[in-house]
Amino acid sequence: MTLKIPMLNRRDFLAGAGAAGALALAGSLPTRLHAQTLALGDASLKVVSDGNLVLPMNFLLVGREPAEIEALLGPHGLPLDQSEPDCNVTLLQTGDRLVLFDAGAGANFQPTAGRLLESLEAVDVDPSDITDVIFTHAHPDHIWGTLDDFDDPLFSEARHWISQAEWDFWRADDTLAKMPEERKSFVVGAQNRFDAIEEQITFFKPGDEPVSGIEVVDTAGHTPGHVSFMLHGGADPLLITGDAITHPVISFEKPGWEIGSDQDKAQGAATRAALMDRLAADKVSIVGFHLPYPGIGSVERAGSAYRFAPTA
Ligand SMILES: [Zn+2]
Repeated sequence: MTLKIPMLNRRDFLAGAGAAGALALAGSLPTRLHAQTLALGDASLKVVSDGNLVLPMNFLLVGREPAEIEALLGPHGLPLDQSEPDCNVTLLQTGDRLVLFDAGAGANFQPTAGRLLESLEAVDVDPSDITDVIFTHAHPDHIWGTLDDFDDPLFSEARHWISQAEWDFWRADDTLAKMPEERKSFVVGAQNRFDAIEEQITFFKPGDEPVSGIEVVDTAGHTPGHVSFMLHGGADPLLITGDAITHPVISFEKPGWEIGSDQDKAQGAATRAALMDRLAADKVSIVGFHLPYPGIGSVERAGSAYRFAPTA
């Protein structure tokens, strides 16, 4: 039997975040307002929640048989029809810098997301306190929250940082035309945010250190300029993965599977497989943007694949 894969359109995408998502949010956000904190040498890392997304499973698992999906997710008690990934934003106090990794989804993406301001308020952080906003990539759930209700930069005092490749991709003349219909809003949304923060933006490339102790790591595939960030302040390094790893079971047990949310599915899978190998071998801790809140843990080998070992 072949699984019919309806393409995700914008209406389904937003509608999918309706009643079920609101229920999930009502039950789960209060606990997420108590930010998880981790000491990292002299630096202090907090994970603050932007809420969660609600995604149809066929948005993530493209072309997979229902039996395969059930065999993978069923033993973990996970729903087979949709995924409700958390959105974990990392806040790092290091020296005199207060760094935010990604800015969340803002008010206009999905009703279950866009809760970052509440979460920052709960840890007594005002948006004007943030000195640096460092983006992994420019998808809606990572960059749309960069503007306030008046479409001005919310983090008004912050320097904003993004990889040159990511900026160039979303800004290119032909990106809108080439993007599938259901994701054209991603392009328009990214371009609007880029226009608004253009005065505050600085570019980096893999290998750079935008802030001392924060190394840019190339994890392209999810988007053309997607990067992760290795934090070197603690006894062991810690990687802010962004969306190089997105699911606590699929990404770990089937890192080589192509994922529908990756712009370049083959490159995304290759990047993920290589990353898993390196993280497990080097015993690097991670913060996964979409792993179950707070998304802090490590990658362990499990047979021929891996498993997520949460530590918080
Ligand atoms: Zn994401």
